[in-house]
Amino acid sequence: MVSLKTLKCTNCGNPLTSKEKDKIFVCSKCQNIMEFLDGDVKKVESTIARFNKSGNSEKVYMPFWVVNTDIKVNSEKIVGGRVMRFLKSEKKMSGNQDLYVCAADISPDIVKGWNVEFTLRPPAIEEEDNFQGIPRVPAFIDNHGAKQHSEFMFLRHEAEISGTLQKIDYDFNINSYRIVYVPFYKNKNKYQVGI
Ligand SMILES: [Zn+2]
Repeated sequence: MVSLKTLKCTNCGNPLTSKEKDKIFVCSKCQNIMEFLDGDVKKVESTIARFNKSGNSEKVYMPFWVVNTDIKVNSEKIVGGRVMRFLKSEKKMSGNQDLYVCAADISPDIVKGWNVEFTLRPPAIEEEDNFQGIPRVPAFIDNHGAKQHSEFMFLRHEAEISGTLQKIDYDFNINSYRIVYVPFYKNKNKYQVGI
């Protein structure tokens, strides 16, 4: 059975509308930022980052889930990959780590690069109070999905830097998550980071 209900702002009670399928709602009255999760809306921790690079194309805000985790690798079985790790001196995802997961419905090939890059080298974010009228790219992945993606990203990265990872025993504990809007310039289907 389908139940219809009016979604309201958790802060001011204003009815929420969204033209697109977006997992994030922003109240048009009070700018409260909420997530749509398990059939309801609730307040979500959020950050809007300031554009600090100039560009000629259209400005958009790209949603990223930032999942704060504690990652501990207890043991790894690697065949022939030990030396490569030191030679490549790749950064690891370990300890207390913010994992970036793009929430937009964009090709995985493009998104993978952003996610790994931001996770290993977090962008220097200056916070903006609001979206300044700049359009938001809809969030396609909710935070359940983001948590799964973040663990998968850690495992894939671990496998890639080790060369031949056969076995891994690890702890992956999620502490918190938030949505971070990262500035991008959009030119047709090409995106460039605006930070
Ligand atoms: Zn409101």
